[in-house]
Amino acid sequence: MSAARIAAFAGHHAEQCRIEVVAETGSTNADLLARIAGGVDSRTLNAPTLLVALTQTAGRGRAGRAWLTAPSAALTFSLAWPFAAPLQALVGLPLAVGVTIAEILADFGVEVQLKWPNDVLHKGRKLAGILIETATAPDQQLWAVIGIGINLAMPEQLQEQIGRPTANLPVTAAQDRALLLGALLSGLAQNMRQFESEGLAAFVERWNRLHAFAGQQVLILDQGKTLHEGRALGIDQIGRLLLQTDAGNSPIAIMAGDISLRPKED
Ligand code: ATP
Repeated sequence: MSAARIAAFAGHHAEQCRIEVVAETGSTNADLLARIAGGVDSRTLNAPTLLVALTQTAGRGRAGRAWLTAPSAALTFSLAWPFAAPLQALVGLPLAVGVTIAEILADFGVEVQLKWPNDVLHKGRKLAGILIETATAPDQQLWAVIGIGINLAMPEQLQEQIGRPTANLPVTAAQDRALLLGALLSGLAQNMRQFESEGLAAFVERWNRLHAFAGQQVLILDQGKTLHEGRALGIDQIGRLLLQTDAGNSPIAIMAGDISLRPKED
């Protein structure tokens, strides 16, 4: 898989993006964040940059959690994207990225659903994770680093370590990784521009159509403790999850923060 092939498949929407493929790294998010800060290797970024790692050894999830993958058994990549917007405008970005992944995978014949706030599920199992981190460069440019991991062939041992059901991308979609990465980059570039000009509003209906738990009873957890219980309705205009609890007439709106959602098993 070469940067040139990914670029060829990405087409004109991603023309101004740089693409790099490395054999192995700790975390593609960490690498790009270091470059934005101008530290470590001082190769500061001045254009949207896609960094793909064939093997990622220290993948990150939210709140210091780990994103685990085996060598060459996942697509692991990050896109650094400069935004001409204040930091608060990026709150709903993980939701727009989830929509993008789902729409591109649909083009490859793979149906997925979205779990609020940042997971992509295939047949109810976690297929992909999204981790967005932000940084301001020394020139004050705000960047979002959009990290994405998609499982291709999860080894059984790793699956046990994760302890929750995971899914692999069907082989038909994963046959040509450069083709898939090119399509994802093209979709992300288009949708990041749309997010910049229209905000999350352009993605709310699309997200709600893909909502994995629409109308279902769910639990909202904070470090394993239940904060709320109710029926998940969907997201509102700023990306909060609307939850119909037994207590109130109108739904409550939940901010993402570091909380987790689980289906309620009766
Ligand atoms: P929650 O599901 O509780 O909302 P999260 O999805 O936000 O958490 P992330 O921080 O996005 O969690 O991802 C890290 C979590 O995902 C880990 O704690 C682990 O449970 C799970 N995980 C780690 N690696 C993988 C993987 N390759 N495939 C699927 N799930 C994974």
